[in-house]
Amino acid sequence: HQQQLIQAGKMAALGVLVSGVAHEINNPNGYILLNMPILKAALLDACEVLDARRQELGARFELAGLPYDRMRAELPQMLDEMLAGGRRIKRIVDDLKNFARREDAPALEPMDVNAVAAAAVRLVDVSIRKATHRFTLELGRDLPRVLGNPQRIEQVLVNLLLNACQALPGPERAVRLATRHDPARGEVVVEVADEGAGIAPEDLPRLTDPFFTTKRETGGTGLGLSISATIVKEHGGALQFESAVGAGTTVSFALRAISTEAAA
Ligand code: ADP
Ligand code: MG
Repeated sequence: HQQQLIQAGKMAALGVLVSGVAHEINNPNGYILLNMPILKAALLDACEVLDARRQELGARFELAGLPYDRMRAELPQMLDEMLAGGRRIKRIVDDLKNFARREDAPALEPMDVNAVAAAAVRLVDVSIRKATHRFTLELGRDLPRVLGNPQRIEQVLVNLLLNACQALPGPERAVRLATRHDPARGEVVVEVADEGAGIAPEDLPRLTDPFFTTKRETGGTGLGLSISATIVKEHGGALQFESAVGAGTTVSFALRAISTEAAA
């Protein structure tokens, strides 16, 4: 128990540190994001003025030490890349803040898994519809309530649903969110299945490591599964992965049902 307390103290200190750093980065980055579009418009306007006087400026005319024509050709993309970089910083910092915002133990309360699943789907509805024409929500009937924290479980489901959507090669592939009662084990099982790219066997052990991502190009932060695994663990469960490369992935976890005896 002593060990757990020390660990909890370290995590809290880390959380404070990360929140502080995130704040310090987000503020100046906010100026960048706000002003970049204006700067871009101003520079491109100025270029048009220069374009009109291109002839009289001469062949050797330079901007910032580069031949004008080359600078002129590259400028729009340079500015767009800077803006994209700023947006990426914002995404990483937002994810980090989420990661750091760990109050000690989450308050567990009697929770309706189906209601939480439906709420999670509503949150990412737009992303789901963009990613697939074949989304199904299969809510188990007469589920017992579980002990859980609705906000946190919703966050897990949002992460799993977004990962499923991002794994699809095209909208004809299906994504399914299902809940069901397992009376023998006294659990409610939640499952997100996709017909996406699947996970390479060598990646499986690292999926829940903070910052592990195969989506560097598209701006993945590698924090979604790490956060989700921690949350499920706080509920006494574990994330289970089943995957076949090229065929798809199923991620599931179980939540302890509140025994009907105790409820009566
Ligand atoms: P991110 O989505 O930002 O990359 P995550 O922690 O959510 O970070 O996921 C980590 C990695 O696990 C992903 O980059 C991806 O390689 C893999 N992964 C997670 N879910 C799936 C899935 N449904 N199908 C295929 N790969 C997945
Ligand atoms: Mg993710």
